[in-house]
Amino acid sequence: MALTPHEQELIDRVQDGLGIAGTWEPASSGERFDILDPATGEIIKSVADATAEDAVRALDAAVAAQDSWAATAARERSNTLRRAFDLLMAHKEDFALLMSIEMGKPIAEARGEVNYGGEFLRWFSEEAVRVRGDYRENPEGSGTMVVSHIPVGPCYFITPWNFPLAMATRKIAPALAAGCTVVIKPAELTPLTTIFFAQLLAEAGLPAGVVNVVPTSNPSAQSQRLLSDPRLRKLSFTGSTPVGKMLLAAAAPSVLRTSMELGGNAPFLVFEDADLDRAVEGVLLAKFRNIGQACTAANRIIVHESVADEFARRVGEKVAEMTIGRGAEEGIDIGALVDERAVAKTARLVKDAVDTGAVVVTGGAAIEGRGNFFQPTVLDKLSSQSAMMREEIFGPVLGIIRFSTEGEAVKIANDTEYGLVSYVFTENIHRGHRMIEELETGMMGLNTGLVSNAAAPFGGIKQSGIGREGGFEGINEFLSTKYTLLPR
Ligand code: NAD
Repeated sequence: MALTPHEQELIDRVQDGLGIAGTWEPASSGERFDILDPATGEIIKSVADATAEDAVRALDAAVAAQDSWAATAARERSNTLRRAFDLLMAHKEDFALLMSIEMGKPIAEARGEVNYGGEFLRWFSEEAVRVRGDYRENPEGSGTMVVSHIPVGPCYFITPWNFPLAMATRKIAPALAAGCTVVIKPAELTPLTTIFFAQLLAEAGLPAGVVNVVPTSNPSAQSQRLLSDPRLRKLSFTGSTPVGKMLLAAAAPSVLRTSMELGGNAPFLVFEDADLDRAVEGVLLAKFRNIGQACTAANRIIVHESVADEFARRVGEKVAEMTIGRGAEEGIDIGALVDERAVAKTARLVKDAVDTGAVVVTGGAAIEGRGNFFQPTVLDKLSSQSAMMREEIFGPVLGIIRFSTEGEAVKIANDTEYGLVSYVFTENIHRGHRMIEELETGMMGLNTGLVSNAAAPFGGIKQSGIGREGGFEGINEFLSTKYTLLPR
């Protein structure tokens, strides 16, 4: 199926050039790359393919805009963010449909992402005017110490394809609130949402050059070039842990400030005293939201042996009823995976799980024909040897591991280099408190399968990342602390 006339009209409104210094221009090489609809495999648009030199021009624009943006009154920066929030809400349907077309997520979830992503604009419009300093007497009584905060300076953002809007607003909103300018490289699979969002920022009155957008099919060349430029002051990356490690190494020679939102391998613990209705509802959300393609996706479902049969049966029944199809159509639960590689990876992990002893409760196979579809799948009795225990699945596959003691559950949960989020279902408040202390993750959902909120500090420990996005903490990633001594 080709795009509907309404979808085509929307795609036509999205710019296809590089957003540099307030203009939309072709790549200096003249090259372009194609964006596909993952549900049909059809090309929906092509966009300019930035060279490393183009990215340097984008940094030139960010550097040129930095001083005046930093000097703009906080209230004015706040008002711009608030106008952007209002505009985004007014155009919610357009952004939701665009994301659904270029990335494959169900339209209802895409609307949810517009709400979630938009909240960062509203939250940081409020935080922009609340940057605090400090005033202390020194212990010797001979002077006053003034602690203030200044914007870090021009930033470089690299974002993933799985939440094309929210991963951009989660970085851009606090940066703008703090007084920083931006060069952003969206994922090559989904650049249209970021481009459309930059158009919205211009409409909201953001001055030219404050946010610049440089999609590229060669992220490695671009990042190497920008990270070695001494004018760049900050890198914020969201994506996989291996790419994050390479970027950290590339940022080291210039001791660049970095924030890293990396991969996860979330444990989802269901104790024998859990409310099973809540746990089933929670796991469906934590696992199948975004077709399983979330860093916060429940990856290892660790269930007490006394309730595992019933839990597997109830989850299996719900999953078997899920509707599969092109996400842009209403009423779909499971859209297409982002590309063919994602389908192949999901199939490989399921085969490995079954080969190492898992039992298929429902699903289990890729769907033949057009588009990148995989059946929503429930596997029971996953072995500790299976690759799913260590790798992020990033697909609609839920694997149940059984345990007998609380200590064993905690050991399984912590047996990973990742530490982004955990989910715990128990009606025992003491056990819940023990889990808060014992699980090695930056975030935890206690009797809920969804933790993301613009007012909360989102981020991981261990190899899931460095820094926090959102909450009171989020703006600090874009501020430098300055201390001044005023002797008596
Ligand atoms: P990815 O690491 O392949 O790509 C992420 C971004 O990095 C893309 O823009 C890509 O173009 C870019 N990139 C790839 N190679 C690069 C290189 N050599 N130099 C510079 N940039 C490069 O990850 P992905 O497949 O797009 O996204 C999925 C991953 O992102 C998962 O691991 C997921 O857990 C993680 N993620 C984390 C969070 C979080 O907040 N912790 C949120 C969403 C996704």
